[in-house]
Amino acid sequence: MQLLASLLQAVKPSPTLVITKIAADMRRRGLDVVSLSQGEPDFSTPDHINAAAKLAIDNGMTRYTDVDGTPELKDAITRKFWRDNGLSYEPSEISVGTGGKQVIFNALLATINPGDEVIIPAPYWVSYPDMVRLAGGTPVEVLCGESQGFKITAAQLHEAITPRTKWVILNSPSNPTGAGYDKAELEKLGKVLLDHPHVYVMTDDMYEHIRYDGWPFTTIASVVPALRDRTLTVNGVSKAYAMTGWRIGFAGGPREIISAMGTIQSQSTSNPSSVSQAAALAALEGPMDFLTPRNEAFRERRDMCLDVFNAIEGLNCRRPEGAFYLFPSCEGLIGRKAPDGTVMGSDVDVSRFFLEHAHVATVPGSAFGGPGHFRISFATSNERLAEACKRIRAACSQLN
Ligand code: PLP
Repeated sequence: MQLLASLLQAVKPSPTLVITKIAADMRRRGLDVVSLSQGEPDFSTPDHINAAAKLAIDNGMTRYTDVDGTPELKDAITRKFWRDNGLSYEPSEISVGTGGKQVIFNALLATINPGDEVIIPAPYWVSYPDMVRLAGGTPVEVLCGESQGFKITAAQLHEAITPRTKWVILNSPSNPTGAGYDKAELEKLGKVLLDHPHVYVMTDDMYEHIRYDGWPFTTIASVVPALRDRTLTVNGVSKAYAMTGWRIGFAGGPREIISAMGTIQSQSTSNPSSVSQAAALAALEGPMDFLTPRNEAFRERRDMCLDVFNAIEGLNCRRPEGAFYLFPSCEGLIGRKAPDGTVMGSDVDVSRFFLEHAHVATVPGSAFGGPGHFRISFATSNERLAEACKRIRAACSQLN
């Protein structure tokens, strides 16, 4: 009898593992590796949020709560959706989980039957396809290259929909590309979806508040109200409020799906941490002015890296609307030779080269379904970023 579940065989080994392992070995050998692979802000959780958590502990809010969120937090989330997105939800249409990740996984587990298809525009956040596979479904990746702004077009969506399509997943601004859909683009996608009433939309708006140059964020259920009843709008506090470790994510959507997500959560993790829920409530109800200087710092770092990368022969990078990632193309480096004679055959080789020769850790694009690219996170200090850029430039100049 085999030990491990057959379902696990569906999960692809991550192409990042080899890079992570080499980086760890290098650090153990005392080498100074600049890591640009981490997907979290380098800022701290704002003080008023920490204070609310401490108060929650002192007030004894340390027990089980309702499985999918306290009534107070759900109320705050309905106010958030109304205030920021013009979306009106009842508390019974809200689910709170242990991070956006659990919320998305719950939704897929709650809805996917064997053979159901989920359309995933690529490049995508690494977890979507494997979550779909673990839920017994089939991910349908649609390649959306840089020439189309890394965004799925209405024609591509139309083409990808079959009678087995259960969901299409949108993520704007995107991890890994930072690309954001504008209102007109969402309207066009909405038009296609209105012709296919069996398809549900999951929109992952995790990076809603991290955006640049006045780019106006919008989300599909508010742009196309007719889709509201088959849209799951996922969001959370991890990125905007620098609360990655607190593990609170949430979603608004159809009551039937929300209720089923609660059933799954009730038999897996139960409620997300009571203290974290109190902190998330303070985040959603509190001041947001701390975001302006943080986004300004992110924008400066984005622009510094863009200037450096776009000046390197063989690299080319689109300017992202939001999130804190760059996804440069390294197609122009493929086929070039490193000083040790290694020929760059793929984005994995390029990331490996940056690691071994520049001591900079990046993530190869193939991890995100976007081969020929690599991802950096610019959520790290200006000094470390400048150092990383300098090292990458020097390493690229050694390729011939
Ligand atoms: N969605 C996207 C696009 C992300 O990048 C991440 C985290 O990296 C998540 C969801 C998960 O967020 P959380 O940390 O709240 O689980």
